[in-house]
Amino acid sequence: MQLFVLCHQNNHRFVFAYPARVRADLPDHLELVCPFDQDTDWYYPNEVQASAGNAAVPGAVIGGLIGIVGGPLGMILGGMIGGGLGAKAQQEDQERANAFNAS
Ligand SMILES: [Zn+2]
Repeated sequence: MQLFVLCHQNNHRFVFAYPARVRADLPDHLELVCPFDQDTDWYYPNEVQASAGNAAVPGAVIGGLIGIVGGPLGMILGGMIGGGLGAKAQQEDQERANAFNAS
C-alpha cells in the first residue's frame, strides 16, 4: 500500500512514505514537498489517500528464486507458488488500502 496526496499548487499526485494503516495513525498535519514543483505545504490526514502498491512483483521474484534452486520443475512450481503468493499479497494490500480510505 502506498499513501499519496494531490499537490496543492498544481494537483500533482505524489506518494510519500509513512507507516500509517489508518488516517488516525497520521499526525495532525504533514509537511510534504511536491517532487514535481518543490512546492512545500501542509497536508492533513483527510487529504491523504491510499492505493495498493505493486505487491505481486516480490511474490513472482520469490517464486523465481525457488525455481533456480529446484531446477526446471522447481522453476515451474516456484513460479506458480510465487505467483499465487503475489496475488494474495496484492489482494491483502488492496484490502489495506481500502481500510485506510474508509478510515
Ligand atoms: Zn506539485
